[in-house]
Amino acid sequence: MSSLENPSSSSVSGGGNWRHRGGNRQRGMPKACRCGEEAVIRTSGTVKNPGRLFHCCPYGSEEDKYHLFKWTDESMVEEIKDLIVMLSDVKGDITNLRGEVVGLEKELEEMKKAIAKQERDRIDCINEVKSMKNVMVFGFGIAIVCYYFFG
Ligand SMILES: [Zn+2]
Repeated sequence: MSSLENPSSSSVSGGGNWRHRGGNRQRGMPKACRCGEEAVIRTSGTVKNPGRLFHCCPYGSEEDKYHLFKWTDESMVEEIKDLIVMLSDVKGDITNLRGEVVGLEKELEEMKKAIAKQERDRIDCINEVKSMKNVMVFGFGIAIVCYYFFG
């Protein structure tokens, strides 16, 4: 029964970490190499790309593709593209917020109107009570008069 030693776990540890290999490339200015070393900017001295800036790992070389190598102008284009996407997001957020503010202003206006209406109703109510009081006083007076005359 136990002749095979954990066949499942050994097969899992084989290549699980390489699932994101394709999308692992960082966008924008690279900060560090995948080996953990900080990226440095260098100037290309090749005939094909003279004076062109690039980010690279201090341990990298033209042959060693494991370490970081990225043209700085391409990184900048990516960064600007991302920035534009971000800005359009921010713009959308601002538009949404404006819409919300307009909505809130309308709500506030409605509330003000409702409060003003309530205030009017309250005054009407007070006037009604006052007039009712007058009627009662009047009625009470009549009752007293009747009491004296007919009582
Ligand atoms: Zn490296």
